[in-house]
Amino acid sequence: MADYVLAIDQGTTSTRAMIFDHEGKVVSTGQLEHQQIFPRAGWVEHDPVEIWNNTREVIGQALSRADITRHDIAAVGITNQRETTVVWEKATGKPVYNAIVWQDTRTQSIVDRFAADGGVERFKDTVGLPLSTYFAGTKIVWILENVDGAREKAENGELLFGTTDTWVLWNLTGGTDGGVHATDVTNASRTLFMDLRTLAWDESILDVFGVPKSMLPEIRSSSEVYGAVESSSLLREVPIAGILGDQQAATFGQVAFEVGEAKNTYGTGNFLIFPTGTEIVHSTNGLLTTMAYRLGDGEPHYALEGSVAVTGSLIQWLRDNLGLIGSAPEVEALAKTVDDNGGAYFVPAFSGLFAPYWRSEARGALVGLTRFVNKGHIARAALEATAFQSREVLDAVNADTGDELKELKVDGGMVANDLLMQFQADILGVPVVRPVVAETTALGAAYAAGLAVGFWKDFDDLRKNWQEDARWEPKMDAAERERQYRLWKKAVTKTFDWVD
Ligand code: ADP
Repeated sequence: MADYVLAIDQGTTSTRAMIFDHEGKVVSTGQLEHQQIFPRAGWVEHDPVEIWNNTREVIGQALSRADITRHDIAAVGITNQRETTVVWEKATGKPVYNAIVWQDTRTQSIVDRFAADGGVERFKDTVGLPLSTYFAGTKIVWILENVDGAREKAENGELLFGTTDTWVLWNLTGGTDGGVHATDVTNASRTLFMDLRTLAWDESILDVFGVPKSMLPEIRSSSEVYGAVESSSLLREVPIAGILGDQQAATFGQVAFEVGEAKNTYGTGNFLIFPTGTEIVHSTNGLLTTMAYRLGDGEPHYALEGSVAVTGSLIQWLRDNLGLIGSAPEVEALAKTVDDNGGAYFVPAFSGLFAPYWRSEARGALVGLTRFVNKGHIARAALEATAFQSREVLDAVNADTGDELKELKVDGGMVANDLLMQFQADILGVPVVRPVVAETTALGAAYAAGLAVGFWKDFDDLRKNWQEDARWEPKMDAAERERQYRLWKKAVTKTFDWVD
């Protein structure tokens, strides 16, 4: 009897393999970062071949560190950075271009072109999303229009598209030698092409975008056996049985399965997911409608999502572009050298603004500066930006659902930051709660895979594994909270209409 499940977390900054036991505890981890390629302002790419090589290597690291073999692994789950787009040749397995990453804004003119007839919300009823550079669909169009020969090859059925779950799955199951070309409903719901009701590609939208259906993966559930790992792998013959986009995986890992059990993930960007059960809820306050999960042929579950493009990556920017800190965690000590933000507000609209504004023409602003402001204040303003953006998303959730959230479950790299978590509780006015296993993304993918093969029985089996690690109670008085939030909102307006 196999005692473990292995999850592959193909993230924006790194690829991880994590092995979990039945209690949901991390037994071992392998991790490798990949290169962030910035060919021009607004462009962000990854090398898909590097990502695949890293995937193979981190699987080996995780297995050998725990002295575990494939016979001990009941199933493999995959989670991934969503929307990031890979197009490759079916016959050779070679990508025709680098992966275009979710933060990349090069497709603005494509968005404008399609929005000219019907506005950015023209497909929202069907797909739950506004037209935006963020989603995979516009990135596929860019590749078809800008890579030599791509359009012709695609029309001849020679090219395959996938988000990185699909890229990893296809390669893990044999690649050119019979690789499975599939994705799950959560990833498919981020392309602009999937009908939320039928869970199938919408042919009329594909026609508008000029994308041949033959490129697209088969849409499967989030928890079922897609195939077995190919024979040259250390994991040969192990079933691959779960796929969830990273934010949906984190929601799953937080055991937030039912209506209203929201979680907020603090990574490169921030993503709040609010499950709405089997009901499709359309936001009137700037949230996306997305899939939460579907298990096998069970009923599809939906969610509202507040996506914020830049949170943790602003801390990276302080480190890499300004040299203000040597590593991301150092931002906390720098912020603690001052008592407050000194009047400075930092709106990191580096990729435009996502939820709740969806303004791709916005650009970043640091406002409220006086001669008094020093680097400590800037560090604090950068951290506070994360909390203010999350407050805006939570306000939108409350307005859309009429529900007031009682507490917020959090995870992701930034939740190690105590100052940020306290400020978050202060600015929300509700407690913030962190679980013991902060690796909820990988855990969620493991859960989806484990459920499919009977390693875990049901949701109650998973709920037993969730344990509280830390809790922050709001301390700021209400008047001060609203004063600061008002100033933040004013700062946001300074970023609008920047690109002319
Ligand atoms: P992702 O899964 O999106 O790659 P992670 O969840 O691994 O991201 O989180 C990494 C992000 O968190 C980075 O952007 C980094 O700048 C930020 N980060 C990591 N540690 C801290 C910290 N102690 N304080 C603030 N930000 C942090």
